[in-house]
Amino acid sequence: MLPSDQLSSYVEALRPIIYIHHFDFDTIDKLIADAARSTAIYEFNLANGHVDFTTKCQKQPYDLQTFLALFDENPSSDQPETNSFLVLKDVHQELSKPEIIAQIKSIALKTIYIENYYVTIFIVSTQLNIPKELEKLVTLFDLPLPQNPEIIELLNEYCLNLNIQTSEDDKAELATSLKGLSQFEIRQILNLAYQQNGTINRDDNALILKEKEQIIKKSGTLEIISVKEELDEIGGLDSLKDYLKNKAQVIRNMGKAKRFGVDPPKGILIAGMPGCGKSLTSKVVARLFGVPLLRLDVGKLLGKYVGESEQNLRYAIQTSEAVSPCVLWIDELEKAFAGIGGDGGGSDVTTRLFGYLLTWLQEKESLVYVVATSNDISVLPPELMRKGRFDELFYVDFPKPEERRKIFEIHLRKRGKLSKRIDTIKLLKDSEGFSGADIEAVVKESIEKAFVSDEIELDTSILLQTIKNTRSLSETLKVKIEKMKKALEQYDMKSASAV
Ligand code: ATP
Repeated sequence: MLPSDQLSSYVEALRPIIYIHHFDFDTIDKLIADAARSTAIYEFNLANGHVDFTTKCQKQPYDLQTFLALFDENPSSDQPETNSFLVLKDVHQELSKPEIIAQIKSIALKTIYIENYYVTIFIVSTQLNIPKELEKLVTLFDLPLPQNPEIIELLNEYCLNLNIQTSEDDKAELATSLKGLSQFEIRQILNLAYQQNGTINRDDNALILKEKEQIIKKSGTLEIISVKEELDEIGGLDSLKDYLKNKAQVIRNMGKAKRFGVDPPKGILIAGMPGCGKSLTSKVVARLFGVPLLRLDVGKLLGKYVGESEQNLRYAIQTSEAVSPCVLWIDELEKAFAGIGGDGGGSDVTTRLFGYLLTWLQEKESLVYVVATSNDISVLPPELMRKGRFDELFYVDFPKPEERRKIFEIHLRKRGKLSKRIDTIKLLKDSEGFSGADIEAVVKESIEKAFVSDEIELDTSILLQTIKNTRSLSETLKVKIEKMKKALEQYDMKSASAV
């Protein structure tokens, strides 16, 4: 459905207040004009009062209250104001005034209950601030990001206007890189590319990716992570690694797999002990699948206004869908959703946020492969663990002896220190209960020790000494870990290790 059709359908369904949280007012104006067809449009903006919607020339220097009163007081069906769109721009600060809230509410209720009175209020703002009193009357409208055909159209229009010759192949390639950006952002990037090179072609891909990274970063909740890690840098966790290798075959050949009848993979939840490779695996997944990695910071989702948190999540999901195929890594899941459905009792906002995420996970058809990680699943809502949300739930335990040996080898090899002087088997007994992160720390510290002791060669005894002086995570977090283990036992989770 086209965005303007979606907007029209809200108007026809008598949604009285439509909140559009966006910064590109030009694009939104076009959309509202399309949805209005012959309906009169009245615009108010904070700088100029009542302005002409098309020319933006000031009509009356009204304040918002006077402007709203035109539509609120004694309307009769023969006045044009009784069948109109009110476009209120950047009025988010005014929405904390009780008299303004009351007027908007009154207009909204008239639209719902009074015959022949149809005034749809559009609040268009760069900030989201929905007063609690209006919450039930407000519909949030998301402008979907342009898809391939729209981006190609935009590129054609841009090249035509500036008389730029660009091959169809180059346009197709650029369109793929520009996915995930709004029309406004695409135009900004094209302007920059044109200014720098005097033309637009596939060489601009590097610039696009750099700009895209910035834009995604500015969203505040998503981050593009560049991945250097490879699968063989994970010691142990063989069962999880085999599972992911199989998924990689599907994702790398999704077209063929779909035709064969394979469903698009949804994602996995990896829970378990701290410092044991959950984050490392999440990064490796993206590399293995050959797709970008987006990290969602759930701690930053929560906003202070009504609807802001959902809007943040919606935006993050929308962006990841537009960038798809990609891996969306939801790190420390428990940070956002602790307490929901349990004794803690999550707040309204976190419960709604969680509901939104669950529905998306359940219904998702796009190739956004979700890797959710969590240390403490005891505080996570049980609904999350039900089938249909993730393809599989894995738990990661402290590494077994053979896994520890591999982790020692990986970190020694990485630093060029794996030699005959080191017998990794001898390190296993004393490193019982060490996490991967502990082992890495032991290797690093031992190399430093060897360096400061007149640059002697690293050997087993130095490593053993460091191990003896190290308090492992399983020791320092003993009580917490017992609690985590109990919580893990309640769910039907697969062990990430094969041993
Ligand atoms: P947390 O839950 O505390 O975030 P985590 O399980 O996500 O921990 P990671 O961040 O993946 O742990 O691990 C920290 C570092 O420890 C890794 O960057 C890696 O260097 C090392 N490490 C952990 N587990 C392994 C492993 N299985 N193989 C190799 N290195 C590991």
